[in-house]
Amino acid sequence: MSAPILETVGLCKHFVTRRPLIGAPTVVRAVDGVDLRIARGETFAIVGESGCGKSTLARLLIRLLDPTHGSVFYDGRDIAALPREEMRRLRRDLQFVFQDPFSSLNPRMTVGALIEEPMRAHGIGDAAQRRAEVARLLARVGLRPDYASRYPHEFSGGQRQRIGIARALATGPKLLIGDEPVSALDVSVQAQVINLLEDLKDEFGLTLIVIAHDLAVVRHMSDRVGVMYLGEIVETAAAQTLFEAPLHPYSRALLGAIPVPDPARRGQAPAALTGDLPSPSAPPPGCRFHTRCPYATELCAAERPALRDAGPGRHVACHHFECIGAGHGLPPPPERAPHVARRFALYRAGSERMSAARRGHTTNQTTGGMT
Ligand code: SF4
Repeated sequence: MSAPILETVGLCKHFVTRRPLIGAPTVVRAVDGVDLRIARGETFAIVGESGCGKSTLARLLIRLLDPTHGSVFYDGRDIAALPREEMRRLRRDLQFVFQDPFSSLNPRMTVGALIEEPMRAHGIGDAAQRRAEVARLLARVGLRPDYASRYPHEFSGGQRQRIGIARALATGPKLLIGDEPVSALDVSVQAQVINLLEDLKDEFGLTLIVIAHDLAVVRHMSDRVGVMYLGEIVETAAAQTLFEAPLHPYSRALLGAIPVPDPARRGQAPAALTGDLPSPSAPPPGCRFHTRCPYATELCAAERPALRDAGPGRHVACHHFECIGAGHGLPPPPERAPHVARRFALYRAGSERMSAARRGHTTNQTTGGMT
């Protein structure tokens, strides 16, 4: 890979929570030791279950959050250590498209003022130049320039996301991060917004980082993918390689959950994931996936696997990825050591209790608490 535009080294974000009057503080390890290299001009997707730390990682990458440990290098400069004023100037290059187009736009501002605001904050152009740029950006994202005088509530979800994208482009960024940019939209407009992002990437020479849980979106638009589990990156690979032959058992389970409309392949998919994600405030020791992994051994429960080289442009954090392999000759799941089996059963019971509690909560909500 040529010199990366963005690189993280040992990036961590730990949140400390304290319940009033009760006991010791709890440390939530939302992101825990992430090493990533993003090449200039590529589209890099980060995937994983809800709660795995994807959105926190996205915010750390452009310092919307300060890391607890570790560094984020943008063009060779550690932005985690930059003074506030220098960081503010650098924000021209680093922009963010938020997930929810309904809450990310100030309802009291007109669309024109919303798109113009970042330009004013960075002292770009005079008033007439900024107005012309607002009209140009609106047209570029597929909206009429006269919409500048309207308010966000007058638009549909897809139109608001286009406004959010126009606002993100207003400073001429080099790196754009989309945190689930289409997940709040109707399926019918998701493809339009994805195509728009791809066109803009080429036109503006952007590097795109997309956080997503919709694997169809990821497969369609990304060059490389990082799979995240409980605050850690467990596999990185070119998108095509990953979707054709995932190596990490978690990637295999995640991709195996994609429905395949082919009766001939029924029963060939790897076992779907079972159980809930363990709590990031008490992550399992060793490999964090060992409480849900069908291949877990004693080593997995004792030792955290490092992200290892697994071929050109590919890295995997699993003690046994070589023998789990690319889908041929899979070894049978090994017998779990007694202490691993006990922990497995404990997590399974806990996650089933939580699922049952959530189901009860949902029932209460839908029946107005009359159950
Ligand atoms: Fe499964 Fe062990 Fe690999 Fe973790 S290290 S993913 S538990 S086989």
